Amino acid sequence: MSPRPQSEATPDVADSFGRPLKSLRLSVTDRCNLRCKYCMPEEEYGWLPRETLLSFEEIYTLTDLFTTLGVDKVRLTGGEPLLRRDLPTLIRMLRDNRRITDIALTTNGILLGDQADALYDAGLHRVTVSLDTLKPDRFRSLTRRDTHAHVLEGIEACLRVGFTGLKLDTVAIKGFNDDELVELIEYGRRIGAEVRFIEYMDVGGATDWSLSKVLSRDAILDTLGRHYGPAESIVETSSAPAQRYRLPDGTTFGIIASTTSPFCATCDRSRLTADGVWYLCLYAKEGMDLREPLRSGLSRDELLALVRSRWEARKDRGAEERKDLEQAGLREARLIEIQKLREDPHLEMHARGG
Ligand code: SAM
Ligand code: SF4
Ligand code: SF4
Repeated sequence: MSPRPQSEATPDVADSFGRPLKSLRLSVTDRCNLRCKYCMPEEEYGWLPRETLLSFEEIYTLTDLFTTLGVDKVRLTGGEPLLRRDLPTLIRMLRDNRRITDIALTTNGILLGDQADALYDAGLHRVTVSLDTLKPDRFRSLTRRDTHAHVLEGIEACLRVGFTGLKLDTVAIKGFNDDELVELIEYGRRIGAEVRFIEYMDVGGATDWSLSKVLSRDAILDTLGRHYGPAESIVETSSAPAQRYRLPDGTTFGIIASTTSPFCATCDRSRLTADGVWYLCLYAKEGMDLREPLRSGLSRDELLALVRSRWEARKDRGAEERKDLEQAGLREARLIEIQKLREDPHLEMHARGG
């Protein structure tokens, strides 16, 4: 493949709270082969029209704009990113961009058994597999699919082909998997992966969410502390959303306390949907369409100016605002009504990536 053009680096940008633009989540498809209750609980979904999806060249060009302005980490997500045909080709293209130091993938793992080899060969740096339960029947009731064994096979394939630093992300939900925290930690330890517990969030698409189902960071620490002894918080300078902990036996794990203790103050993340709409916050109701300006032939400098000015004006702190509402007793059960989600699939978590 011939080398692709890369624009000169320009000074990094900062938003209106001084937060840099560092991390980009690329949603490569809004389609998914699971129907997780906390993400896609409805019977039917409207999908982004296929002709609007960005090609790999378009994704490469837009990513190059972001890296010119400071992005150095890219995470491929979705929907289920492994449903996007030829994903290793996109990874190879992104590897050409020398400003990207880290290319990661978040996947439900089902197709990893078939694809782990090709992803590794293409130069993917890191993999995170979402794993909420070790019980196949629980998996079925959560996802409406009977493919738990494929997930575990996918995890094994990942390790077999040589990926290191594997992470397992678990959405912790009261009354669903709060009795499996220790088993998940033990499983992670056995295979050499780090578990990260994520608090259940009331993002668009989580139409089943209620505050009473959120298993808080404190409750997670309490449960693990009763089994293992108190976990010690690991001090590190990072804008990563997970706070990491060490158990008395040395095992480490993370907690992403996005609901009870939001980390918007250091948030350097933004998201590009598979059809080129750029969102500055997981909770944002509006994004900026970059596909049309790109397809209509705007110059690189014009596109850079668009992205720069949008980031410089950024005031988003969605999770903190939800928390403020909660403290005022005004956090309604769901963020966005189903009817509104049907009218605009971009509002769905599975369209903008987790
Ligand atoms: N399909 C892939 C997967 O599940 O790993 C990638 C996309 S998924 C939207 C990305 C992450 O968002 C997953 O780890 C998922 O568990 C998480 N997620 C989805 N809905 C959530 C919610 N309501 N609260 C917390 N995490 C959520
Ligand atoms: Fe589950 Fe990920 Fe699919 Fe959402 S996008 S339904 S979290 S597998
Ligand atoms: Fe960043 Fe928005 Fe999440 Fe806050 S809610 S951490 S601003 S994406």
